[in-house]
Amino acid sequence: MHGIDSHCHLEKMEEGIIQEAKKHLAGVVTICADIGDAKRTLSLIDNKFIFGALGLHPESAGKYPQKAIDQYIQFIFSNRKKISAVGEVGVDYIWHKKKDEQERDEEVFRQFIELSKELKLPLVIHSRGDSAVHDAIRILTGEDCKGSILHFFSGTEQDLKDALESGYWIAYNTVICKSKKYAPLIEKTPLESILLETDAPWCSPFGNEKDNVPWNIIESAKKIGGILGMAKDEVLKRTEENARKAYGV
Ligand SMILES: [Zn+2]
Repeated sequence: MHGIDSHCHLEKMEEGIIQEAKKHLAGVVTICADIGDAKRTLSLIDNKFIFGALGLHPESAGKYPQKAIDQYIQFIFSNRKKISAVGEVGVDYIWHKKKDEQERDEEVFRQFIELSKELKLPLVIHSRGDSAVHDAIRILTGEDCKGSILHFFSGTEQDLKDALESGYWIAYNTVICKSKKYAPLIEKTPLESILLETDAPWCSPFGNEKDNVPWNIIESAKKIGGILGMAKDEVLKRTEENARKAYGV
């Protein structure tokens, strides 16, 4: 059995999902996006099937004073050995349209970039909204963050080129199964740079948007296999190897 869902939120799903996921996949990476979820995320990580990251989604960052963020950064420090990455962190221009909000996104993002460098862990980057991918790549320039993971990649072809040149991983979400805009990007992404992810419980490619499950990456593998002329199992195997490299698991 092959395949790793490189980005989901297990703490937002029912426990039965984990047992079911073990029947379909080789592993999942659960991503904590909010301070309030960190302890639950840590309790789920077994570093055998479930790997994890701690971060602060830009959408959540705004609700915390700097002091709480500082304490959270210390908390992540003290849990260094349990986690495989720092994230998700980044910029979100769907939520944050005003200039001062976007500047605050960047400020918090930079604090977590520092943290990931100190901990020598990869970053899981959230970048959503027009020019957000471009800005995230700009912010990372000169930061020596090779090995960063561009979660839910939805940038332009130029962004893709820049990201690949910088040595970032390109994580394609299950939305590739229903949106046509990703095929030209997938064609231009070397398979050895691709990760598969669901962002479950969100972003289901079928029916109810909120019903995504980690093993839907199998559908992504079919889709990518169709584009690249490759069997789905080969895509799952190769992208699993990538996820193991990216997260060091
Ligand atoms: Zn996420």
